[in-house]
Amino acid sequence: MNISELGEFPLIKRLTKDIQIYHPKETIEGVGDDAAILAIPAAQTAATNVSPDTPTHNSNATIVQPAATTNAPPNPPPHNSNATAIQTAATTNKSPDKAGNLQVVTTDLLVENIHFDLTYVPLKHLGYKAVAVNLSDVCAMNATPKQITVSIAVSSRFTVEALEELYAGIKLCCNRYRVDFVGGDTTSSTAGLIISVTALGTVSANAVTKRSTAKENDIICVSGDLGAAYAGLQLLEKEKRHFLANPNMQPDFEDFSYVLERQLKPEPRTDIIELLEKLKVVPTSMIDISDGLSSEILHIAEASQTGAAIYESKIPIDPETYKALEPFNIMPLTAALNGGEDYELLFTVSQNDYPKIETILDKVRPIGHITEQAAGCNLVPDNGTLIPLSAQGWQSFGSN
Ligand SMILES: [Mg+2]
Repeated sequence: MNISELGEFPLIKRLTKDIQIYHPKETIEGVGDDAAILAIPAAQTAATNVSPDTPTHNSNATIVQPAATTNAPPNPPPHNSNATAIQTAATTNKSPDKAGNLQVVTTDLLVENIHFDLTYVPLKHLGYKAVAVNLSDVCAMNATPKQITVSIAVSSRFTVEALEELYAGIKLCCNRYRVDFVGGDTTSSTAGLIISVTALGTVSANAVTKRSTAKENDIICVSGDLGAAYAGLQLLEKEKRHFLANPNMQPDFEDFSYVLERQLKPEPRTDIIELLEKLKVVPTSMIDISDGLSSEILHIAEASQTGAAIYESKIPIDPETYKALEPFNIMPLTAALNGGEDYELLFTVSQNDYPKIETILDKVRPIGHITEQAAGCNLVPDNGTLIPLSAQGWQSFGSN
């Protein structure tokens, strides 16, 4: 069978369907969420007694939870869980303090000309984005990002200076989000640049948020605004076409700095995670928006065995997104639903918690509610006639 016949998500399901979990007490949640959840028995206390030095690049292994090595280290699920959460036994035993955190781990692979185009993506931005999108997956578990590792495969056409640019972006994002760069690997490639980033973070056991736990009548909320990154991509693609036709032409990006930045330099919403903690709101489910609102709400509904209703008029879209998309005849709503790469957080809260969300409406908007599964996932337009949502997000193996 051709991979493109199946599509990305069914492929992942098929490849990961008979993975055996040998450490069920430690591997709490495997493949299938933004993060899987692992437990390391009694790791935390001992970890604090070990030298804080961490090996840097090219060491074979990085010691993040040293004590874990005395108890068989958990094997993270290998394939495409966006992140993995490792729980210290402190939470299941009794240590009541923050040491009883879960740890989340997420990994992503970015391939030149599949995920990025160096004709218009500066290497520094690419490095920043490669880290940011992983931190976003950590946030999607309601966790705080703490460490990353970065591995690259690179062809001989890249100079040392070019790679320094890439790493400058990586380090900039680490500094911005106070994340420790603790290891990785470098190797050569025959086909351009490949970047793999793994990110780790922590979250207390009672706050870890999966995508599978939304309940009927929960309020669906989204941070920021949607569709802008897709608008930015359209502008960059257009300029690329113009540039190829006339290499001397300077791009005209005036007035569109917001949408371009949303495409080139997305920011993980660690601020939302902090806000929710401050408000003492634990979302009932959460996911980050990498493939578009439609796709992500379908993931939550499928995992939670619910339906969902999203109100068209409530979907937050920046005025600049409208303006940028106008010449392309792309509806901003389509960009929000199916564009992707917004890296905003989509989450559900119980009705009881909603009054707290109302205090942060400048950052988070209610856009709908969770329904019974039989109702399906629908967009509710202004005229009220339901439109079933479908996942038309970006497909890794699609033909287009
Ligand atoms: Mg994700």
